[in-house]
Amino acid sequence: MSGQNASWAERSKKVLIGTYARYAAAMVKGDGCKLTDADGREYLDCLSGIAVCSLGHCHPVVTDAICAQAKELVHVSNLYDTLPQIELAELLTENSFAEQIFLANSGAEANEAAIKLARICAGPERYGIISLTGSFHGRTLATVAATGQPKFHEGFEPMPDGFSHAPFGNLNVLDAMIANQTCAIMCEPLQGESGVRPLDVEYLKGVVDLCRKHDLLLIFDEIQTGIGRTGTFFAYEQLGIVPDIMTVAKALGNGLPIGAMLTRKELAASFVPGTHGSTFGGNPVAAAGAVATLKIILEDGFLQSVKEKGDYLQAGLTDLAARFPDLASGARGMGLIRGLVLTEKGIEHGADMVNKLFEKGVLINFAGNVVLRFLPPLIISREEIDQLLVALGEVLAEFEA
Ligand SMILES: *Cc1c(COP(=O)(O)O)cnc(C)c1O
Repeated sequence: MSGQNASWAERSKKVLIGTYARYAAAMVKGDGCKLTDADGREYLDCLSGIAVCSLGHCHPVVTDAICAQAKELVHVSNLYDTLPQIELAELLTENSFAEQIFLANSGAEANEAAIKLARICAGPERYGIISLTGSFHGRTLATVAATGQPKFHEGFEPMPDGFSHAPFGNLNVLDAMIANQTCAIMCEPLQGESGVRPLDVEYLKGVVDLCRKHDLLLIFDEIQTGIGRTGTFFAYEQLGIVPDIMTVAKALGNGLPIGAMLTRKELAASFVPGTHGSTFGGNPVAAAGAVATLKIILEDGFLQSVKEKGDYLQAGLTDLAARFPDLASGARGMGLIRGLVLTEKGIEHGADMVNKLFEKGVLINFAGNVVLRFLPPLIISREEIDQLLVALGEVLAEFEA
């Protein structure tokens, strides 16, 4: 290796804690679905910074909104109102079941707010949150405890008390796990990190019934699925059920760090001055970027185009699975969160396939050790989807032999 990428990698390894296994590319520029690395190589980004840059990189309208706000006011304490926060809250509440929101800086923080709200609403002694195996809810201690994957707990025990995990999609076991101290059930409508795994609608309806029966709150983590990713503004809209509390983050600011917890007024009333807070949450620059982002995603026809392109990608992936049955058994997902489901043999080569695609200039990842995951910017064109499918076909052909 030589050049800028290599020399930055060397500097990076010395001073940045190694929490990421990084590719041999340092990114310097983004434009739409295109990324450029420090040595001038271009990539088709089909990951969007993990479901973040839904409008593509450096969308001009969002960038203008960020710059304009940065020239007026970058930060004030949450002891004062700012218009971007108000506009953002209006957009989120006018377009969801929610009536009020709390602003945070990330997904994990939005989930922390949801967990704290559920506990304070339920009152003393009722602190238990049941989430699902395979879930991913964040990296703070409480959200990692909610995360139903032991590998994220290892070395950090003891986990905070009050979190348990019901097997994915199993209603009877969930029912049996509900105890006096349980206050909420928390889940992603479609698990992103563990392999683009949608929950069955009948199962979710059963969860709603259990919540009603036992007076539990239903928390939906839509951090990955929300803000248009699945072809509707939120995934819950397609499932015919409504949560009590919902969290969003990733795509909310098209790249700026911002998250939100959404709920009904009646529940929100348990949060009063002093119960919860954040220095940076809802920062004016991040909020202004989020307002600009949401206005575009909510434009007429935008979400319909996500659905159509999602169907197109699904058809292309299904076709590849049929062509390479030794490696892939099918495709799944909603809108533009899709996974190519690998067979046992495919799984063996999953990481290598992602690396080969990287070498061809296409960015995707291997999620949950089961699927190749595609999270392209929602503005991706059909030509770019074709480009992805052709590259993927070439890579699969290399491993099919
Ligand atoms: C990414 C993600 C989180 C964590 O968000 P951070 O911003 O990384 O803290 C939580 N839940 C889901 C479903 C996610 O995809």
